[in-house]
Amino acid sequence: STPPKEITDDEKEKLLDGLLVSGFDEASCVSRLQSHFYHKPSPHKPSPYLISKLRKYEELHRRCGPNTRAYNEDMKKITKSKKNGTSAATTCKYIIWLPANGLGNQIISMASSFLYALLTGRVMLVQFGKDKEGLFCEPFLNSTWLLPEKSPFWNAEKVQTYQSTIKMGGANTLNEDFPSALHVNLGYSPTSEERFFHCDHNQFLLSNIPLLFLEAGQYFVPSFFMTPIFKKELNKMFPEITSTFHHLGRYLFHPSNEAWELITSFYQQNLAKANERIGLQIRVVDPKLTPHQVVMNQILNCTLGNKLLPKVLGTKNIYLSSSDKNKKIMKAVLVSSLYRHYGENLKMTYMNKSTVSGEVIEVYQPSGEEQQKFNDNKHNMKAWVDIYLLSLSDVLVTTYQSTFGYVAKALGNSRPWILYNPVYSNEICEREFTLEPCYHYPPLHYCNGKPIEDVGSSFPYIRHCKDYTFGVKLV
Ligand code: GDP
Repeated sequence: STPPKEITDDEKEKLLDGLLVSGFDEASCVSRLQSHFYHKPSPHKPSPYLISKLRKYEELHRRCGPNTRAYNEDMKKITKSKKNGTSAATTCKYIIWLPANGLGNQIISMASSFLYALLTGRVMLVQFGKDKEGLFCEPFLNSTWLLPEKSPFWNAEKVQTYQSTIKMGGANTLNEDFPSALHVNLGYSPTSEERFFHCDHNQFLLSNIPLLFLEAGQYFVPSFFMTPIFKKELNKMFPEITSTFHHLGRYLFHPSNEAWELITSFYQQNLAKANERIGLQIRVVDPKLTPHQVVMNQILNCTLGNKLLPKVLGTKNIYLSSSDKNKKIMKAVLVSSLYRHYGENLKMTYMNKSTVSGEVIEVYQPSGEEQQKFNDNKHNMKAWVDIYLLSLSDVLVTTYQSTFGYVAKALGNSRPWILYNPVYSNEICEREFTLEPCYHYPPLHYCNGKPIEDVGSSFPYIRHCKDYTFGVKLV
């Protein structure tokens, strides 16, 4: 398929201002070199320091990644020491990322874990089951980030948990014999205790442990900005704090060739011809709580009220329509939702109708799975295609609290309109000005054990999110 923009030889643009490294086999991951034809160039430049950290990381991953000598020896040592209860002295240190929740949650938590790997000099491997096979390209040159399925660490069940070793107040409860592997779960649980993961003291403890399993399902990057020992590095890596996830996301997540074919063919067939592309991400977690009709009204109120879409005038004279067509401004609406209802409803609204602005509106919905499915490769592929297509829109509308929308806006560098909860919020929707995802479950205590009264005003660069007021984001 032909890219919508003219091909330029500009290596810089192709490699996203140095964020990406050259040298990859181009055919193995076409999207890496073509995404810049589809996304507008980003005004956010990665800092030279971030670029140098990434190049060093790639080198480390080549030395310590799966199938290397260091990796094989280290894994043997860790397995052995697990049996005799002492900590192994390994050549490299590792993170094994574990999945939790849907694809959006997984993407933001992988990005967070990768930044943690950069900050702590660890190598990050991902435990991808069949459900994520063939979604993404390998991100690191000449190596793999996939944890081999035959690894003795594929299963983290029997590994000692971080929660059981860390106590309130950040006190040191690990004895001299550090375990060789520890399962750190930063995910939400209604009974979960404070993890003090944002505290220097616990970071010092964790630095002794060769293998960390990291499970979160959250964008926990704001907690690094609360951790004193990480501050200097972070400031150097991200002088512009609010594009942290934008850079990490564009560095790590490249659609596989199969995903890219689906994305680009849909784009070419339906969206490329439009003067403007409008992405609507309609996330309804429970239709009983937020009924379709209520959500549909809210979408119309938001898009018509803010002139993202024109009002309908009346039935169009079909005899005039064909001659009009060439002159008309065409807007293509991409509807991303589990429910077909939304795309169909919007399509009916505009079909054979003229609009106050004279614009022609076409509506497309690539998929409608009706429900969220787990451990399903095809379902995840559709989700990834939807996220990426949303990131290619000129105007974006996303739903409150949805990590799916967080990923789309950051990859596309867009400031979406956020639809608020139609049942609980007085506001319909509002323009969002940051690319950063919201960290839904931030720390509750200072490192001395005292409760944080208001986490949104207690740390520099960290404020409450508007779409989920309990959470925080980088500003
Ligand atoms: P969140 O729950 O909105 O924060 O987003 P997640 O991505 O973590 O989880 C929702 C999951 O439901 C997705 O990963 C998909 O599997 C599915 N899903 C939700 N909305 C959509 C959508 O618009 N399109 C597709 N294809 N899948 C969706």
